[in-house]
This record gives sequence, structure tokens and C-alpha cells, in this order.
Amino acid sequence: MTPVDLHCHSNHSDGLLPARDVVRKAFERGCQLFALTDHDETRGLAEAEDEAQQLGMKFINGVEISVSWGKHILHIVGLGFDRNNETLLAGLASVRSGRGERAERMAAELDKVGIHGSLEGARQYADNPAILSRAHFARHLVKTGVCKDMGTVFKRYLVRGKPGFVEHEWARLHEAIEWITGAGGVAVLAHPARYEMGNETLRVLLTEYKRLGGEAIEVVSGCHGIPDAARFGRLAQEFGFLASCGTDYHATGEGAREPGLNPDLPMDCMPVWHRWLSPETMSPSISAG
Ligand code: AMP
Ligand code: MN
Ligand code: MN
Ligand code: MN
Repeated sequence: MTPVDLHCHSNHSDGLLPARDVVRKAFERGCQLFALTDHDETRGLAEAEDEAQQLGMKFINGVEISVSWGKHILHIVGLGFDRNNETLLAGLASVRSGRGERAERMAAELDKVGIHGSLEGARQYADNPAILSRAHFARHLVKTGVCKDMGTVFKRYLVRGKPGFVEHEWARLHEAIEWITGAGGVAVLAHPARYEMGNETLRVLLTEYKRLGGEAIEVVSGCHGIPDAARFGRLAQEFGFLASCGTDYHATGEGAREPGLNPDLPMDCMPVWHRWLSPETMSPSISAG
């Protein structure tokens, strides 16, 4: 296992726990380098960093930016940037600003299939009113018995072609990368196996992402199976990307993994985190193998 987690959510976006609690959970599992990566939002970073400092765990700033790329929605994680950078903050504010109106349209679509009151329901789960996410709607649909779990919601609702999905313009890919790199950070393409695109489209994406300044991709992710990690490990090498790892933790019981540890990268991948945590300083018992 690798004692690094570079993708986690708190209740500043669509995670359930306060940032401090997520940081503590990661530390308790042996994590040595942690990034909080809330959707389109940086306001949990100071709290997370404070907690990490108290615990003696290395912390870097993170964010997960929502991007429209053609008809695809991509997520670009930014790591290690200056969280006071004004261009980045203005960009993230512009991405957040569309979410309220989008949520109203989602609720109107659910109304059409007889699911009423979903906006109010979703809001009850959103501690940060600026980030109303499909995950909040999904929790409400599970709570009210419309679906048995989150996975079922994202098969029957809220995805393209199903009730509750609405088109929305997020940031452009070049903007997200520029905001991150302009603030001194590294751009990481999040959970690439999650994007439903054919191999050819994927190669077009990776080529364009690289040309625009994307440096890394997630190879190991809580959203990836073992074959996905192997596949994206090979693609990282082929395209010359650094490799990242993150649990994409939102809440206990909702996803695959608790925050803190990730399976090792496939052989020959170049870890993106060596710039913040040198291999020599990693605890030998965990980093070996
Ligand atoms: P949004 O940013 O509002 O489009 O919401 C996207 C969020 O919904 C993701 O960050 C996940 O938290 C959640 N989500 C999307 N697809 C799934 C899925 N298949 N299973 C569980 N959660 C999902
Ligand atoms: Mn999420
Ligand atoms: Mn994501
Ligand atoms: Mn995420």
C-alpha cells in the first residue's frame, strides 16, 4: 500500500464529514501525504491543513474542477497550488455559480417523473449551499426510498438519457489547467476510467490534455478496478504522464475505500507525489514493495 491520498472530499462539497475528520481518518490509517480536493471549492483547505499540521502529516492544497469537454464531463484535480491565487479563485467561483440554477433544472426534470421536492431534499444534505451536487440529490433519492443505494441512483437517474439529468456548461479544459498551473500547481486528470468514451476519443483527450499542460493522471483511484489501474499505468507511461493515487472518499459506506491508503502504482509509473514526499522519507514498512 502507498501512504498517500491525493483525492478526498469533505462537507465543503459533496462529502459527508468535516474536513478535519477526513484528515484525521487518513492519518489514523497511516497516511503521510494528504490532499483535500473538494469540487470547485477551496474553502476547506485552511481547516484541513491546520488539522494535518497538528497531527504531523504532510498536506498539500487540492481541488477537483468540473470541466465540459465536448459532450463529456471531466474532472481535473489540481494539487500543490497557491490557494490565494486570484485567477484560480475567480475561476472556481465562476464554476460554482452555475450550480444553483442547474440544481433547479434537475429538480424540474425529476418533477416530470413524479419525484417532487428533490431540490429541498438535496439542500438538506448540502452543508455548503454553493456546492449543490448530484451526490446530494442521490442521497435524497436513497433516503426517500426511490432507489436502494447511490449506485442505483446513478444508473436510473441523474445521468445522460435518464430523468434528472440536465446539460450544463462547466469550465473549459484549457481554463481548468491554466488556473491550476498558473497558481503553481499540477493538473491531474481524475479517475479516467469513469469517462464513458471509446479508446480513440480517450487518446484524443490524453493528447489534448498533455498539449494544454496536463502533467499527471490518476492511475490508482477508488473509482478504478485493478484492470483500470494497469491500463492507465500503461497509458501514463506511453503519454509521459506522472501517476497519481486517491481514494475519492466521500462518505463511509458510499465508495470503495476509506481515506488514507491506496494500493501501489503499477511498476514503472512515476509518482506525482515525489515532489512533496521524497521516497527516502516515506516510512519503510509501508513504502516497501
Ligand atoms: P456533480 O458535480 O453535481 O455533477 O456531481 C458529481 C458527483 O456525483 C460525483 O463527484 C460523485 O460524488 C457523484 N457520482 C457521480 N457518479 C456516481 C456514481 N456512479 N456512483 C456514485 N456517485 C457518483
Ligand atoms: Mn463528488
Ligand atoms: Mn470526480
Ligand atoms: Mn472526487
